Amino acid sequence: MIRAIFLDLDGTVYRGSEACPDAADSIAEFIRRGFAVRYITNNSGARPESVRAKLVRMGVPSQPDWVVTSGMAAAKEIAHSFHKVGVVGNPGLMESMIEAGLTIVPYCDAEAVVVGLCFEFDFTILQEASDAIRNGAVFYATNLDKTYPYDGGRFAPGAGSLIAAVVAASGVDPIVVGKPQPTMAWQACDELGVEPREVLFVGDRIETDLDCALAAGCLPWLVLTGVSSEIPDGVLGSETLAGVLDYLENS
Ligand SMILES: [Mg+2]
Repeated sequence: MIRAIFLDLDGTVYRGSEACPDAADSIAEFIRRGFAVRYITNNSGARPESVRAKLVRMGVPSQPDWVVTSGMAAAKEIAHSFHKVGVVGNPGLMESMIEAGLTIVPYCDAEAVVVGLCFEFDFTILQEASDAIRNGAVFYATNLDKTYPYDGGRFAPGAGSLIAAVVAASGVDPIVVGKPQPTMAWQACDELGVEPREVLFVGDRIETDLDCALAAGCLPWLVLTGVSSEIPDGVLGSETLAGVLDYLENS
């Protein structure tokens, strides 16, 4: 029995500044039929309020607490065990840490160092963050995506590219929070009070979204509005989100 639907954003709900085909109507219908909806994104610096505003502009229903980012999820994980965090990341990641009750400190004073997408990343940051990790600060990575799509069909370096540099310089592998790890899905289940098996998890990328769904124990669903162009044998999926409605009606 499915009670909640988790949706990846990029390539599943929108592409750039446009909603994916059928996304707005299908999500409105999920809500009308009583399903809880959560948006689960590996973007570490996204702010829930700006994501909500972007979705609403496209006609896609959303509330700020429907958005789960890898930065928010990392903050929650770190706050379970630590107080002082060193942050390699954009302002959105820093805000997530502060909202979770953490204090941002210089890397050398940190109990944990979190690395996400950071436009200010440079040699000094790499050196200081790596020193702290080598000296015992626990290393968290928001997500391992090496690139992300950029304007004009180009790719920009993602958090995973910066994390690879910190891994190389520190000699330590991080605790990874983002998809395909199950952490974000489990956090959203806890918050909603649903079991993972009561969740249908939709995404456009098998090796992040569907693997996250499987690792978490959710039902994975592939859509072809993003990076994937066909549904492999043995995988549940549809051209657009409208296919999820048909499935829910008939299951
Ligand atoms: Mg995607």
